[in-house]
Amino acid sequence: MGKRTSENVLLDTALKNFYGAAEELGLEDGLIEILGNSERKMSVSIPVVMDDGSTRVFNGYRVQHSSAIGPAKGGIRFHPDVCLEECEALAMLMTWKCSLAGIPYGGGKGGVECNPLEMSKGEKERVARTFAARIEPVVGAWSDVPAPDVNTGGQEMVWFMDTISKMRGRLEPAIFTGKPVSLWGSQGRTEATGLGVATCALELLKVLEKDPKKTTFTIQGFGNVGTYAALTLVDAGAKVIGISDITGAYYCKDGIDINKAFQHISEHPQRLLDGYKQPGLEKIDAEELLFLDTDVFIPAALEGAVNKNNADKVKARYIVEAANGPITPEADAVLDAKGILIVPDFLANSGGVIGSYFEWAQNLGGYFWTREEYNSRLLHIMKGNFQRVWEFSQERKVKMRRGAFMTAIARVADAVRMRGVFL
Ligand code: NAD
Repeated sequence: MGKRTSENVLLDTALKNFYGAAEELGLEDGLIEILGNSERKMSVSIPVVMDDGSTRVFNGYRVQHSSAIGPAKGGIRFHPDVCLEECEALAMLMTWKCSLAGIPYGGGKGGVECNPLEMSKGEKERVARTFAARIEPVVGAWSDVPAPDVNTGGQEMVWFMDTISKMRGRLEPAIFTGKPVSLWGSQGRTEATGLGVATCALELLKVLEKDPKKTTFTIQGFGNVGTYAALTLVDAGAKVIGISDITGAYYCKDGIDINKAFQHISEHPQRLLDGYKQPGLEKIDAEELLFLDTDVFIPAALEGAVNKNNADKVKARYIVEAANGPITPEADAVLDAKGILIVPDFLANSGGVIGSYFEWAQNLGGYFWTREEYNSRLLHIMKGNFQRVWEFSQERKVKMRRGAFMTAIARVADAVRMRGVFL
């Protein structure tokens, strides 16, 4: 059997994690080989006339790792470090994430190697539209459904959708998710990931028979995911004793007034906590948040936040990963030795992709759900997914991260087995 390796660290790690879990599951060699490769890897060149009249050619990519369960799903990023191997790694992770989430999608990822921070709006639009035209043959509501990722958002999705709709001569809203509510987007998407993270944390407390009202939380990152996770947790009666953003960490042993902090960032021009005040609040170094004595720590900022340099100082009993990859593999081993239980990222932050699935489903049906409908469906799915991974991990006596990988891979493997290999 040909096991792949890669010089790209992200792809190599994704492959190793996959092979490890697949072998533990006892998957057949042929299946391991099929799922260790991507179905389609597309590289495109994107010629663009810049504002100064010069012409530049950017590299773009779209990878579809697996369509065994459904259309490939995954974001498109605009970043100088984008490359084919990175897209392949992230596409594979999307296959497992969608499978674990129990939604009818496979995994995909794409991007354009460019620096949008140095580009005008017009230049970005020309890059987005030419990229959309280049990948038009392989995207579609039933084949590949991209979404926003690093440095792309509602505006880029509308440029993509509009370009392909014009090329095909009909409106194609269901090909891209993450669109603004005014243009076929969905109510509830903004809060979805944070709500899902908090739901996982509350489900964890339930299986551990702990009372949320007697549980303390710290949250690193008070952006989109961190804020909505915090608001949901305090609604459930939990005490959030520490929050942080790039301006530092804010600690109050009696609990941060999350609604007030949310109001503060909503009025701040850069949506930051800088200047936030309440009685008993202490401002500490951003990294110190990781070392606070708390029941649950939620990293909701950046990848690699907990690493080999700081893992041994983490005092939380439980960690619910909201960011993608917030704990490095070395730190994971240190935390495990300390007996800290971790709810893995691709389970905890899957509210976002489940929300994308809701947007797609609404677009296909040409019908809009209310925020209440959206949230109640999201809660139902997230709770079921948490319980499934928890029970599997308990039965197989594996950590939740490994249990999540195994559950996800098993579902895709079943689909490949049933659909069979042809040609
Ligand atoms: P965001 O940009 O809205 O918020 C990030 C927050 O982290 C900001 O408050 C920022 O100030 C803070 N931050 C950055 N560096 C920090 C540091 N060193 N210390 C403390 N705080 C720091 O981003 P987001 O959308 O909330 O995403 C957060 C994470 O969740 C990312 O890893 C993202 O990939 C992941 N994620 C997001 C979604 C989603 O739907 N938004 C879905 C899945 C995963």
